[in-house]
Amino acid sequence: MKKKYIFMIGIFVILTALLSISQSRIFVETNSCVGCGDCVDVCPVDAIQIVDGKSVIDAEKCILCEICIHSCTYDAIRKNK
Ligand code: SF4
Ligand code: SF4
Repeated sequence: MKKKYIFMIGIFVILTALLSISQSRIFVETNSCVGCGDCVDVCPVDAIQIVDGKSVIDAEKCILCEICIHSCTYDAIRKNK
């Protein structure tokens, strides 16, 4: 009985972690972005473009590495948890 209980908790923890990862997303605070392009240069998968002077992230390409977050001196890129 105890093993079954521990197994169920383990499954719950794994599913919660997977759900959390799938909902993670990198996004741009448009008001803070000045369109400098620093984030475009560092993205390893070319997921960022400058459109109309603002950074735009392609969520389909993004691998959530967070390099762009650290490259932005304007603190315009964030990750939702
Ligand atoms: S590095 Fe920051 S300010 Fe520069 S384009 Fe990217 S998001 Fe905008
Ligand atoms: S998190 Fe990584 S892959 Fe996603 S946009 Fe930023 S630099 Fe590119």
